[in-house]
Amino acid sequence: MNATRTILLLGGTSEGLALADALGHVPHLRVVSSLAGRVSNPRLPSGEVRIGGFGGADGLTQVLREEQIDGVIDATHPFANKISANAYEACLRTKVPLLAISRPPWTERVGDIWHDATDVEDAARIAASFSGRILLTIGRQGVEAFVPYDREFVIRAIEAPLPPLPSRYELRLQRGPFTLEDERRLLQDCRVGVVVSKNSGGDKTYMKIVAARELGIPVVMVRRPVLPQVPSVDSIEAAVRWARGL
Ligand code: NAP
Repeated sequence: MNATRTILLLGGTSEGLALADALGHVPHLRVVSSLAGRVSNPRLPSGEVRIGGFGGADGLTQVLREEQIDGVIDATHPFANKISANAYEACLRTKVPLLAISRPPWTERVGDIWHDATDVEDAARIAASFSGRILLTIGRQGVEAFVPYDREFVIRAIEAPLPPLPSRYELRLQRGPFTLEDERRLLQDCRVGVVVSKNSGGDKTYMKIVAARELGIPVVMVRRPVLPQVPSVDSIEAAVRWARGL
């Protein structure tokens, strides 16, 4: 009889949800999805789920040992650099195999007006140099970098960001994916002069980039943080193959 293997799946993304579904069909595999607990009403993956931080790389190391984890899949967002660094460190210490699902970044296309920003502080400085309302589509985190700029903002996020917040802003609480029509309407109705986006990649939030291109609106694109180099795949199928091979 085959022994059951346990995988810790670090999620909080659409890839995490899809992978939890797909791995649920693999025989002799126990999959524990992990969410940070940032949003109060998260989309829950199918199967076993744990919520909340581990307590840094030390805490994660302990969990890998105590729970006898056979493999870790990092399906976190490309901007979730702390958990990815902790997973790298904890897997190195415990010699537990680690795989990342990496979402290719978006690249500039003909008609795009992109301005590259090294981080959200840089993005704030660049965005403030444009006229019109500034649309922030960077999630809940990082909004404080825009506070020093006395401008009108539109903040779109799943949940309201925590203070400090800019003095003048309109909040659009929405969860993607968004259609091109949704995004055109948002940019036009809110009279957006410039869009600030993280280079998240993937198709779920790409339509804002297409709408900005169509309407000739500049986009300040925040570059991805540098993550540890780990074996990675870019599809659910490849991650399932890796898990089957454990
Ligand atoms: P982060 O800065 O890399 O992580 C901060 C801390 O949150 C980590 O040190 C860890 O706490 C905890 N954490 C993060 N992801 C976790 C997970 N999947 N399971 C358990 N603990 C986790 O991460 P973040 O940018 O705040 O993102 C948090 C979550 O939201 C992630 O699951 C990510 O996939 C998702 N998300 C992030 C973004 C984004 O733009 N950053 C966008 C969409 C979704 P301990 O040190 O205590 O273990």
